[in-house]
Amino acid sequence: MQASLRRRSFVGGGLGLATAGLAAHAHAAGAATIKLRLLETSDLHMFVYDYDYYHERRDATVGLSKVASLIAQARAQGPNSMLFDNGDIIQGSPLGDMLAQPGTLKPGEIHPMFAAMNTLGYDAATLGNHEFNYGLPYMDHAIAGANFPFVCANLARIDGTFYLPPTMVITRNFKAEDGSEHALRIGVIGFLPPQIMVWDRSNLEGKVTTTDIVTAARAQIPALRAQCDVLVALCHSGIDTRPAASGFENAAYHLAGVPGIDVIFTGHSHRVFPGPDYDGRPGVDALRGTLAGVPAVMPGFWGSHLGIIDLSLQKSADGGWKVADFKVEARPTYRREKGQVISLVEPNTAITAAAAPAHQATIEWMRQPVGEVKFPLNSYFSLLGSDAAVGLVNDAQVWYARKLLAGTEYAGLPLLAAAAPFKAGGTGPDSFIDIAPGPVALREVADLYVFANTLVAVKRTGAEVAEWLEKSAGQFNQIDPAKAGPQKLLNTSVPTYNFDVISGLTYEIDLTQPSRYQGNDPKPRPYRRIVNLRFEGQPIDPAREFVVVTNNYRSDGGGGFPGLDGSRVVLRAPDLNRDAIVSYLRAMGTLRNKPVATWSFAEPLQKVTLAFRSAARLEALLDGRSDITRVGLDADGYTEYQLALG
Ligand code: MN
Ligand code: MG
Repeated sequence: MQASLRRRSFVGGGLGLATAGLAAHAHAAGAATIKLRLLETSDLHMFVYDYDYYHERRDATVGLSKVASLIAQARAQGPNSMLFDNGDIIQGSPLGDMLAQPGTLKPGEIHPMFAAMNTLGYDAATLGNHEFNYGLPYMDHAIAGANFPFVCANLARIDGTFYLPPTMVITRNFKAEDGSEHALRIGVIGFLPPQIMVWDRSNLEGKVTTTDIVTAARAQIPALRAQCDVLVALCHSGIDTRPAASGFENAAYHLAGVPGIDVIFTGHSHRVFPGPDYDGRPGVDALRGTLAGVPAVMPGFWGSHLGIIDLSLQKSADGGWKVADFKVEARPTYRREKGQVISLVEPNTAITAAAAPAHQATIEWMRQPVGEVKFPLNSYFSLLGSDAAVGLVNDAQVWYARKLLAGTEYAGLPLLAAAAPFKAGGTGPDSFIDIAPGPVALREVADLYVFANTLVAVKRTGAEVAEWLEKSAGQFNQIDPAKAGPQKLLNTSVPTYNFDVISGLTYEIDLTQPSRYQGNDPKPRPYRRIVNLRFEGQPIDPAREFVVVTNNYRSDGGGGFPGLDGSRVVLRAPDLNRDAIVSYLRAMGTLRNKPVATWSFAEPLQKVTLAFRSAARLEALLDGRSDITRVGLDADGYTEYQLALG
């Protein structure tokens, strides 16, 4: 295991932190050396412009347009380069949702994301899990517009044939250091998380199947290796060093253990590698950028970074090429300093021009008014107790499902709804919702419900509803009431989109208890945090049946909630949850009353101080609350606060 790195060694240095010297290796005179630069974009998620459609303002933290400028710089620094994309391309921003509206993209029309990417000369790409969110026909149309090939080795049609070529070999002439030219064969293989069969069950079941990433690699790599000089794996999957299990979601580390791979491009986890997020994991060099010794990179998300792997290739005696040295870098498009975003590169106008009509259409589309809400909707307090934003989503879900369930055998069951605060600081100090009282536009509803999920209702007993809430309560750390001084409230390894709040009930969360569910372990532990769980004012009957309205991600297994595996579904709606909210607001006209409160923290026996980080804006909204105090700024640009409980 490598020595642990201190965090400041990453933070202080800025660019070029992985510092293995390219020129360090001397070699025999006459042996050709090729310096080959491999570039990666990943998880672009339809962020073409450096633009925030929710707030109609530029956003220096996103955009292929900015990465494109880094690509141009990186290419200018040497004669030989190749460019790859690692998936999660066509979904994730309002631009993606606008284009996916039925009838928007005309037959044969090139999808604007690919019109933009086509200007950059990509060599190959692989699919991410989000490519499937709008269904296979839409994905097929979109990727048909790419002027570069896609590979994927673990996705098959139901008849067993590969959906896309599993691998390919690109032959390219490169210039050696001595000026000589050499034709090199670059082998490319692609992988996606097999979990797409769960996350997009309704789009994929009966149409395609997936294979475990490492299994697919073992099947394909020996033959590919025999045909190429350099083997590049495009792995839309993150880095998890726990012992491998079949079907691992984040398999890049275990993929590195399959012999024959020279370079792994990773992604999916929306993190940066090399970097401190992966410091101290066995087999991972988080400074140099290797997984089990194999050079690897992960370029953040939404266009935050460009992944760069520089290879120094040497011709060996047998005529083949081998990697003599390498250097890995995740090069950022911006940095944060004292809470400010500082852009490090200007957007490339060829990229924005390629998507300009769609960009304008998205801004117009997002402006359409849908209703009026007389109270503020924000997510600054969503992890501290009941809030109106999550409550409104739940009220809309119940309103929508009640109509569709009327006249069915489920109409008589009490209706509950589950929703999570999607944007509650998880992706940065600016990633909160903040909607002022007044008319509500589609852009604000899209901000409130950022994911393109579809509405699903499931049958649950009272006991199962309690387990659902116990899983949600893993959002928080255990608090020791005997301990003096502030204790960290939030378990940041749990994304806030997995903090489901269930409306139609009231309950408290007892932070002094350990979490009943830990990590991905499906087994409950002998603790309970959910206390005083009531339905219609009475303790919930564990045997009573309920219908719970949620989304397809949750109902089909997303987040690993107990018993939620796609079964006992009573309603699969044709609409997005977001569209249910739009319909609700249109039908209501004006909403005057805040949704009914559902949950709070249980009062501990002693006073405790809880530390959490949020946006600077929270302080301005305290409205006389004296239990929350501002502490200061942290290194990531968040504002630190303390909450007094008890
Ligand atoms: Mn992604
Ligand atoms: Mg992904």
